[in-house]
Amino acid sequence: MGNKTIGIDLGTTNSCVSVVEGGHAVIIPNDKGERTTPSVVAFTADGQRLVGSAAAHQATVNAKRTVSSVKRQMGTDWRMNIDGKNWTPQEISAMILRKLRTDAENYLGEPVSDAVITVPAYFNDIQRQATKDAGKIAGLNVKRIINEPTSAALAYGLNTGAAQKIMVYDLGGGTFDVSIIEIGESVIEVLATSGDNHLGGDDFDERIVNWIAEEARRTQRVELKNDLVALARVKEAAEQAKKELSAAETAQITLPYITQQNGQPVHLDMTLTRAKFNELTRDLVERTAGPVQNALNDAGIAASELGKVLLVGGSTRIPAVQQKVRQLTGMEPNKNINPDECVAQGAAIQGDTLSGSKALSVNKGILLLDVTPLSLSIETVGGVATRLVERNSTLPIHYSQIFTTAAPFQSSVEIHVLQGERPMAADNKTIGKFKLKGIKRAPAGVPQIEVTFDIDTNGILRVSARDRDTGKEQGITITANEKMSDAEIDAAIRDAEQYASQDQARREALDIGHEAQQLINEVEKALDQQGKQLDKADKKQIKDHISALRKLVYKNQPDKTQSGDIAAIRDAMEKLKQSSGKLTQM
Ligand code: AMP
Repeated sequence: MGNKTIGIDLGTTNSCVSVVEGGHAVIIPNDKGERTTPSVVAFTADGQRLVGSAAAHQATVNAKRTVSSVKRQMGTDWRMNIDGKNWTPQEISAMILRKLRTDAENYLGEPVSDAVITVPAYFNDIQRQATKDAGKIAGLNVKRIINEPTSAALAYGLNTGAAQKIMVYDLGGGTFDVSIIEIGESVIEVLATSGDNHLGGDDFDERIVNWIAEEARRTQRVELKNDLVALARVKEAAEQAKKELSAAETAQITLPYITQQNGQPVHLDMTLTRAKFNELTRDLVERTAGPVQNALNDAGIAASELGKVLLVGGSTRIPAVQQKVRQLTGMEPNKNINPDECVAQGAAIQGDTLSGSKALSVNKGILLLDVTPLSLSIETVGGVATRLVERNSTLPIHYSQIFTTAAPFQSSVEIHVLQGERPMAADNKTIGKFKLKGIKRAPAGVPQIEVTFDIDTNGILRVSARDRDTGKEQGITITANEKMSDAEIDAAIRDAEQYASQDQARREALDIGHEAQQLINEVEKALDQQGKQLDKADKKQIKDHISALRKLVYKNQPDKTQSGDIAAIRDAMEKLKQSSGKLTQM
């Protein structure tokens, strides 16, 4: 077995994997050479599972069997039903993790089993446990779960000499986290975290989608939202336009043949300006202000005391977001590490430290102190949430408090564990419940029941209760319904392994088929728009190449395809690319 520990940023929209090589955290490209992998999983009609861009590309035509943003569902009872099997968020995430692991193994040329995985600082215990379980299903030994902002700070912090407090402003695809972190010489401590679990680039995309749909309604009287396939294309175009607007003042949104109206094709062609985009998304950008202020308040510092502001997450490339950060902090944010990659890099650095190669040289070891994102309490008489652990307490935590009974001769108590900031139990989230039985008969208020909260460095909680008189003890790690049982995890591991051994060639055949089809679509579109300007012979050649390629694509059956067939398709694609080159030059 190899002994490298990989660092994984398991993101809502994109995931990234890194490893320390020669003292640097390098990004491991996937099998397509991309530095981040879309966190998308798809189940094709013929029983294949696709992960990453292969899944993202076919999302349009297979929308109902494609899962994206599964991270939003971690720790919930959400299930994806495919052909009668219910997939949990852990299992879907495990498919993404397994792909990252395979990419890492191909890159390193040796087996990989150890990993450090990052989660948003706002993730509660159930979500952290679900992430750990996903790693286990993917055959990974998850050495540690660390908070994304801590990880980003690590990617920066290593080469930073002076002690300072920094803000990490992380706006990704689906989550917003802001953290205040103190970087010392050998310690990185999260002083406070705040954020919004449901704010990210997806919301910005949605605003553009709504705008496009409204324009289509106004100018062409078509209802795009009724056409799922059209909607998926609109979503893709919206994200593309958003990205373009980070660098340019206007973006062109061109969607030919987007849908049909009375048997006639409908084409859309519109211009979105940065000013209009800013107007459509102003409230989203503004929503980051509250958490920024909360984090500063919780850390007990003013913005002027910050030494640095780090931008993390692809959405921090949006100019209006950067402007907001400047306005909120009065500082020019740091952008000299890639916002999409730094979280994975930090995890790799942490993994390298944990793997022991460096741990022995003490001055290289970095101690991470993470915090509990929310307060933890138990329910006491009258439905009150009695707090045992304040939010933003530094991990690991070991805390005990003595409680007693409310009724005479009460022989059992229920320990109802809650997470949240509200004073009444009912307003907080239940993260576990258990009963301590066999309490010695005594009048109310006499028994002494010691309740202990232990939170390890992964942020995983164990609660126990002990009757001091009888020594009877009960405890839980997490018993929420959302947590998978060990048997379920084992079954999922077996299933995932079975999938991993599936023939690699079948996937390659599928991928090449999609790529070829996409090329045909693009060339046909270009021919349609600019074909008139070509001379006849050129046009005929392109058409011949299209039909030759199309024949091969039709013949391509993933089950039967040989490597020679794949080479023939590649060859035909190359020919078409060359002959259609004239079109793109127009
Ligand atoms: P992350 O989860 O950090 O990979 O962030 C992904 C989000 O960043 C997605 O919503 C992307 O659309 C968005 N994103 C990536 N690049 C850009 C860009 N250049 N401008 C605006 N948003 C971007």
